[in-house]
Amino acid sequence: MLPPSTAPLGVVESAFHRLVSRRARVRKVEPVGDAFRLVTLVGEDLEDRRWTPGDMIQIGFAGLAGRAYTPLSFDLRAGTTTFLGYVHGHGIASSWLASATIGEQLFLVGPRSALDLGAVNRPMIFFGDETSFGTAAAIRATPEGMRGVAFSFEVESEGASRIALERIGVTNGVTLTTREPQDRHLDRIESDLTRALGAAPQTRCVFTGKASSIQRLYKAVRRAGVPAKQVTNVAYWAPGRKGFSGVQR
Ligand SMILES: Cc1cc2nc3c(=O)[nH]c(=O)nc-3n(C[C@H](O)[C@H](O)[C@H](O)COP(=O)(O)OP(=O)(O)OC[C@H]3O[C@@H](n4cnc5c(N)ncnc54)[C@H](O)[C@@H]3O)c2cc1C
Repeated sequence: MLPPSTAPLGVVESAFHRLVSRRARVRKVEPVGDAFRLVTLVGEDLEDRRWTPGDMIQIGFAGLAGRAYTPLSFDLRAGTTTFLGYVHGHGIASSWLASATIGEQLFLVGPRSALDLGAVNRPMIFFGDETSFGTAAAIRATPEGMRGVAFSFEVESEGASRIALERIGVTNGVTLTTREPQDRHLDRIESDLTRALGAAPQTRCVFTGKASSIQRLYKAVRRAGVPAKQVTNVAYWAPGRKGFSGVQR
């Protein structure tokens, strides 16, 4: 597969890229097991931008819409940002992550709004999956930090996920649940969630990751009487759908 910098751009597309995107290059790629890459980008275009924890960046791939990633940190003075990418093995960005190399040039859009983590009161329950680990780590950069946040993740591999979460400092209050056929594991997540909300009804919910899981948990908490304004949903991917860009409701 062609990396983003060398893939040929069409005339219209290259004009688009010049207009809206920023240039950056890969400063560091750290494999965190086989399934994750901690990627740091650097570029003058990243200096003095506005970044709110939970914002996404969208990396451009020729002929395709951008692919969204969530910086877990952004140094606006140095023009560097770091995100944790999940190598799920089914898409162009995932393949790029697996072979990303230092010095590669790329185009990106953002940071742009996806989820304002700083606006979510505590206590907070944060649900997601492997694609949400970086977002979970970005909570540290909010004024209240990690205080009063409990994390629940559905994952393929508990071992690989634990290592990745430790690497980015998401270790307290973490529950990992391994995926099961027909999403049976969601029964457990759902009952833990509704029990926690029963004990602390003011808890704010942030649901990220797989669209169908978010939908199911959203319905469950609404049935349990949690007001819609207490829940923030941002789907990060759905089976068979390419290039999700983050839809909030
Ligand atoms: C706001 C936002 C923030 C995000 N932040 C991050 C982040 O920080 N880190 C991160 O790793 N991802 C993040 N994602 C998810 C990431 O953008 C998607 O996984 C994206 O599909 C990857 O692009 P791709 O080219 O690899 O796959 P695509 O071309 O988009 O999709 C190809 C196929 O892969 C499938 N697929 C996509 N994701 C997964 C998955 N997780 N597991 C199994 N199959 C999958 C799709 O359903 C599709 O069938 C974010 C998404 C959004 C909307």
